[in-house]
Amino acid sequence: MQALAGHAWKNAQPFFEVLEIAVQTGGIEQRLPYGDECLSTREALHEDLYFSILEYFKSANGLGAEDRTLQVGQIVPDIRAGAGATRIQVALRPADRATWTDATQPLDSAARPLAPAQIEREVETLGGTRFDVVSLQGRKVLATHIAGRELGLLVSGGQHANETSGVVGALRAAAELKAKGVGFALIPQENPDGYAMHGKLRRDNPRHMHHAARFTALGDDLQFREQEPFGEKAAQLEAFRRTKAVLHMNLHGYPAHEWTRPHSGYVPPRSAPWMIPKGFFLIMRHHPGLRAKAENFVRKLAERIARVPGLKEFNDAHLAAFAAHIGEMPNPIHHSIPLVIGEGAGFVPPYTVVAEYPDETIYEDAFRLAHTVQMATVLEAADLLAAGELA
Ligand SMILES: [Zn+2]
Repeated sequence: MQALAGHAWKNAQPFFEVLEIAVQTGGIEQRLPYGDECLSTREALHEDLYFSILEYFKSANGLGAEDRTLQVGQIVPDIRAGAGATRIQVALRPADRATWTDATQPLDSAARPLAPAQIEREVETLGGTRFDVVSLQGRKVLATHIAGRELGLLVSGGQHANETSGVVGALRAAAELKAKGVGFALIPQENPDGYAMHGKLRRDNPRHMHHAARFTALGDDLQFREQEPFGEKAAQLEAFRRTKAVLHMNLHGYPAHEWTRPHSGYVPPRSAPWMIPKGFFLIMRHHPGLRAKAENFVRKLAERIARVPGLKEFNDAHLAAFAAHIGEMPNPIHHSIPLVIGEGAGFVPPYTVVAEYPDETIYEDAFRLAHTVQMATVLEAADLLAAGELA
């Protein structure tokens, strides 16, 4: 942090292409015999460095700690296990335009995040009218419009690239929607630069949350871009135009184990409700005046999703742990699924459903349940939409 504060940064954003903080250190890395919990001082160091650096630049530029619009550049805290004295190197680098590869997985039973090349092949198999856009680092934001009975539906995943179950869930749901003759737009992975970085960080630390990979290579949250150039968000805006979108199903995830940055505030600003998992939950954002329809829709949706085998037990266990360690859930719980309902005038379609599954760091059966729930969320929402529930 002293090195950053002592550097003569340029006046215009982004301040750098990549700010890399490479650390080799000892520390504690230990799985715990409960859920996905662990002790990891190296994971905590990643979180501490990423959020502290963001906060430094926000503060230096007169922005509040909760701002999501500052385009600092890509911050990469790369924390690896090392022996002996801790070594740290802080460097400014050009963007890394490479990506990562992995074996192709069966979509229905994927045990880990899909490699970028597989996501592209899945979209090609789906077909439709493509309207890809290009990310800051030159990767494709894959986008397609599948023709059919138009419901005014956009399905997207991976806005925050370290939240990976929604990508699989969106692709699985898309195949079924297409088979049913439904028309919709699909953007399975909205933030390919973050996703490339996440894949690379996972090679050394597959069970870390890697929040530095959540935002774009410009360092901002693409959803919060409100003026040109929209960059990655342009795909979403085009999808709304093509589908005359009524509903945006926006698939997200969040930490599957306790989230800590022990040296600087324990959790990032506004993140206390996400400190430990509270199961799968739904956020419904609606335009002013649509509260009754929104609430009715999301309650019916929760009731249907709760039938996914294993989800109720999973959620009940998380909700009990949340009550024991954090306290009372501030949101209503319907069929074991917390519901967050609120007005959001800044969204383009009248209704946005954000699906939140605690998926960061999970694999195998835990990951399969995650993307099965994400898929069910999209399919049930499309079904309710087709039945006129938002008309
Ligand atoms: Zn998210």
